[in-house]
Amino acid sequence: MNSRRATAMIRWVLAFAALAGIVLVYRRWLHVNPATTALTLLLLILLLAAEWGLRYAVVISLSATVCYNFFFLPPLGTFTISDPQNWLALLAFLCTAILASRLSQQARNEATDARSRQRELEMLLRLSRELLQTDSMAALLSAIPAAVTSVTAARSGMLYLLEGDKLYQAGEIEASQQELPHLHQLASDLTSVTEDGGVLQIPIRSGVRPKGLVGLRAVTLSAETSEAIGSLVSIAIDRVQALESVARGEAAKESERLRTLMIDSITHELRTPLTSIKGAATALLSGPVAQEQTKELLEIIDEESDRLNSLVSEAVEMAQLDAQQVQMHFSPVSVRGLIADACASCAWIKDQHPVHVDIPDGLQVKADPVMLQKVLCNLLENAAKYSAAGSPITITAVGDHGGIAISVADRGIGIDLSEQSLIFERFYRGRAHAGGEKFGTGMGLAISRAITEAHGGSLNVTSQPERGSVFTVSLPFGVIPA
Ligand code: ADP
Repeated sequence: MNSRRATAMIRWVLAFAALAGIVLVYRRWLHVNPATTALTLLLLILLLAAEWGLRYAVVISLSATVCYNFFFLPPLGTFTISDPQNWLALLAFLCTAILASRLSQQARNEATDARSRQRELEMLLRLSRELLQTDSMAALLSAIPAAVTSVTAARSGMLYLLEGDKLYQAGEIEASQQELPHLHQLASDLTSVTEDGGVLQIPIRSGVRPKGLVGLRAVTLSAETSEAIGSLVSIAIDRVQALESVARGEAAKESERLRTLMIDSITHELRTPLTSIKGAATALLSGPVAQEQTKELLEIIDEESDRLNSLVSEAVEMAQLDAQQVQMHFSPVSVRGLIADACASCAWIKDQHPVHVDIPDGLQVKADPVMLQKVLCNLLENAAKYSAAGSPITITAVGDHGGIAISVADRGIGIDLSEQSLIFERFYRGRAHAGGEKFGTGMGLAISRAITEAHGGSLNVTSQPERGSVFTVSLPFGVIPA
């Protein structure tokens, strides 16, 4: 305030000094005709109107008229005017000066208006860009007060929603939970933008139905811009609501599709071992069977029951992972320890294959150790199962601050390119093994991929037939202690 007053004071002094300067120069030294003097004074007045506004221009116009009369119109040195023509000249000077000042001020006002409209438009554009960035309702609602506060340069901002009686704030936190009933009432009644106690209250509506309000402290905005902010916020909320409801519908459809697929696959897969068990049991019951054949039939029943058992438990596990019913317990775990545990839980592999492990010291990852061990075990068992006894298996891990990658490489039979994406499908078994002598359910990799994805990571393969395969588990949240 003080600095504004000082600026005004300096401007007055300068304006009068300029007027005095012109009078002095023309009176003392240059002695030009009165018309040139009048034009010079007019120029000064126009400059003042354009740069500093009408106030300065009008006062200096009046003062210039007086000086013009006194110093330049005969009789000089008096305020009387002898020639009626000079009266006309003086009047013309005064009118031109004031008219030109007004025009110049008008142009100035329009320029200021245009600039502030442009600023507000840019602000609305920035706000719409920020509000359209998020697709999740929770993230949007907490981002709205901060976004509105930052684009309008308000001291603080808040968003109140009638639905759920929810309050979100940014900047200096002001409204407390006790004020919710008051806000509820205010949001229900507010029909247009209002200013109350330094807080701009903008209604948010869906059609004509009140939805809530945005409050902004210490900000000056035109009514149109405030209304536009309210509409933008309302559209952003409606948009995310629509997106979420579409996503929910799609998730429900996908879950239904998976359920049907699962039931179809289980019925199909269960039929094979059941048929074998039924056949063996019928053969045993049909009459006396040689002892050797009895043993063979009983072995079939035993193996096929095991297969049935694995199928059912893996199908249940897959269904639980699909329904996100498996509780993950994430904690920082040592990758070396994780791999050691996985190797220990399928120790039979070491009897058939040399296993090389190459992991940097201190590498850690944030994971559910039990679940991740299951993935590694499955990859190790597959590496052993699908490669000739004696061929090496190599486990490596690398990591940086972005994540870690654990790879299990074998020099086995490899996977044809056409099958490399299919093997992650549930119940899919490699063409060479379906119904063959390698026991399996086709669920291992599907389960492993689901577990990895639940960690926010991915499971991929690179492979060449007859040369071997490398399965890589990539996980975010890699932690390498300094
Ligand atoms: P399963 O091993 O029970 O058949 P998986 O889901 O673990 O089921 O694997 C699916 C298919 O992927 C296997 O049938 C096999 O054809 C192929 N596969 C998996 N791991 C390897 C590997 N290390 N080398 C070659 N083929 C593999």
